[in-house]
Amino acid sequence: MEQRATIVLVDADAGWRGAAAGALRECGYEVIACASMAGLAGDPPPVPDLLIVDAADIGAGAQALDTMPRHLRARFDAVPRLVLADVHDEQAIGRALVRGAADFFVRSTHWPLLAARIDRLCRMARVQRELAASHDRLAKAHALARVGTFDFDPKSLTLHGSTGSFAILGFDALRAAISAEEFLQRVPTEHHEPLARAVDRAIREAEPLALELPVSGAGGRATMMRIAAEPLCDAEGRVTMLRGVIRDVTESRRAEQDIERMISADPLTGLPNRNRFLALCSEAIAGAQRGGYGVAVMALDLDRFAQINESLGQVAGDEVLCIVGERLVRDLGPLRCRPGEGEGGGTTDGAVLARLPGDRFAVLLPRVREPAEVSEVVQALVRGFGRPLMVAGAECFVSCCAGVALYPRDGETAGMLLSRADAALADAKRRGSQSVAWYARPPDVHGRARLKLLSGLHKALERGELSLRYQPWVDVGSGTLGGVEALARWQHEGVSVPPVQFVALAEQSGLIVPIGEWAIREAGRQMRAWRDDGIRVPKVAINISTIHFERRSLAETAREVIVEHCLEPGALEIELTESCMVRDFDRTLQALHELRDLGVELSLDDFGIGYSSLSYLTRLPIGKLKVDRSFVRMLGMSVEGEAVVRAIIALGRSLRLQLVAEGVETVAQARALLASGCDAMQGFLFARPVLPARLPEVIRRIPERCLLVAGRTTPAPPDHADAAYHGRLQ
Ligand code: C2E
Ligand code: MG
Ligand code: MG
Repeated sequence: MEQRATIVLVDADAGWRGAAAGALRECGYEVIACASMAGLAGDPPPVPDLLIVDAADIGAGAQALDTMPRHLRARFDAVPRLVLADVHDEQAIGRALVRGAADFFVRSTHWPLLAARIDRLCRMARVQRELAASHDRLAKAHALARVGTFDFDPKSLTLHGSTGSFAILGFDALRAAISAEEFLQRVPTEHHEPLARAVDRAIREAEPLALELPVSGAGGRATMMRIAAEPLCDAEGRVTMLRGVIRDVTESRRAEQDIERMISADPLTGLPNRNRFLALCSEAIAGAQRGGYGVAVMALDLDRFAQINESLGQVAGDEVLCIVGERLVRDLGPLRCRPGEGEGGGTTDGAVLARLPGDRFAVLLPRVREPAEVSEVVQALVRGFGRPLMVAGAECFVSCCAGVALYPRDGETAGMLLSRADAALADAKRRGSQSVAWYARPPDVHGRARLKLLSGLHKALERGELSLRYQPWVDVGSGTLGGVEALARWQHEGVSVPPVQFVALAEQSGLIVPIGEWAIREAGRQMRAWRDDGIRVPKVAINISTIHFERRSLAETAREVIVEHCLEPGALEIELTESCMVRDFDRTLQALHELRDLGVELSLDDFGIGYSSLSYLTRLPIGKLKVDRSFVRMLGMSVEGEAVVRAIIALGRSLRLQLVAEGVETVAQARALLASGCDAMQGFLFARPVLPARLPEVIRRIPERCLLVAGRTTPAPPDHADAAYHGRLQ
């Protein structure tokens, strides 16, 4: 029910006052009548909706209000006033209206007329109050979201801003406008020119303006500000105003940088991690191709590190790794070693030191003219280990072995170089501590064996030696099957060859394309078979190498499979496996868009160890990230590791991507993932990859496994028979 409006009626004429109050009460108003304002001071009324007062009082200098104590007067300031006057009192009416009275009433007994005026004024007052309240709410929302609005007048070079804008820029919120000059004082000088150019273009071309600028905000706080504005034009199309919003994006920029740093840096030493190392190595290879020089990758491994860990404890072990990292950075100093910065890009012209899992480090030398240079560096690094370290108050000696691989001689991609440096390292370790070994391309024997394997792989498809295993991924929160991933196996000469062994060969030889096409068709056929048997499998994910995307459009194959087996497009999912950096990004992007337009789901595999950077991620039309199992393994091992996993999950969420954690093997890992907000998981805890016929049984066991994670059932005894069975199938 609407509240009755309250009127304060102040008039010295007792007769008229009484009659008017009575008439207005009959019209439904709450009336407080009084001979003078002073009379209200003793028992102050609530703030009324309207004040009716004699025009002479207001006109002659607002004595009526002046007679009130100051604090009460303030309460009446915003209340609209209706002034009373006699017929011939035009001057008093005029003065009162000039002094802010809302309307007047010639003192008479035309009560319906008075009531109509009051009604109109009360309605106006209500609208004004609501407007003020909504303005206030908007200002508060702006302050919370750190946003403000502004109008920039290009003629007078003034910026009219809302309270929110001025708060971001650190100006007094009560100011209505600031000059362009004052604004520029908050912006670092090197940004003046680009800012002026952007504003100039927006005005000249009547184009929207969008840019980010650092400013020194309130109290000199370094603030990152995003400006977006639209031009307003006159009839001739000339820009008369730029109207827009300012947003304080400092926090989100910082969070993005933190996440970028976390996924590209090793949490213990702050050095680049494997992921970042591979990306920098790819950059260096691209630079070397242009410049015609070589790139060296060294893998270093500490000798007997396990002993240090065991005898001094893991904390001391961590300390050793940090000291070794610092020492290596210093030793590589003359080669301008890059620190573990989060931002990539640019050219790699200095040496890079990265920490690899465990006690391994990797070094990248990007501009190699001849192997002798590398030899000198690696020998110096290994020799440098001769100096003792102080750990946990004790002197301790650590030595290392190194393996070296060279581009282009030993490999053409970053992944290949690192794995060859690893192979050389294994060789060095066999020779004993402080050894250095170069990757020696396995001569003829290996070459012949490789050729034999390759020719076997060529025939594998036509001989039907390839088959798929299926591993479920599970929504642990709801205890349901999310879908299955198809994983290839090659039955070669009586042995099942896992994909890690033949996928690389297939990629190098281009065979990965027909294998990928076969996998899509085979997975589609299997989906139909399950459906015909009444087995509910929501979707099947097929691994497709980035190389495939660059060579051929997959959409055609996917469409054929969908039509042939009467599947809904969402029943197929393509996992983009990043075996190497996407070289033809536009082509890959186009292929991905074709698949997405078809309705096929897209996910990025092995996220975190591949080549994907944040900028790359936001440009791909993918809906899902599969978090690599190396991160899942970090859960429960160190606080930093858990922070990385949490950051990756938060990153996926902020990009609105679904996340599936891979390689979940223990209940503890699953619980940690659940606690970090990742419900979807894949791994041996739920099921190993199985033959299609085994899938119904695996699906039946999912709810029980999920309950185990939720802690609502006791763990089942180890299923040896089951493990043996899976072992056979692997
Ligand atoms: P992926 O796509 O990341 O597949 C997951 C791998 O992790 C599988 O190895 C799976 O058996 C293994 N895995 C699953 N759960 C666990 C766990 O809890 N612990 C451990 N330790 N491992 C687990 P798999 O089958 O050997 O495949 C290796 C990789 O080979 C795949 O990694 C994928 O990148 C590639 N691959 C497999 N099939 C194909 C294919 O048809 N085409 C292409 N291009 N690549 C394939
Ligand atoms: Mg996969
Ligand atoms: Mg994966």
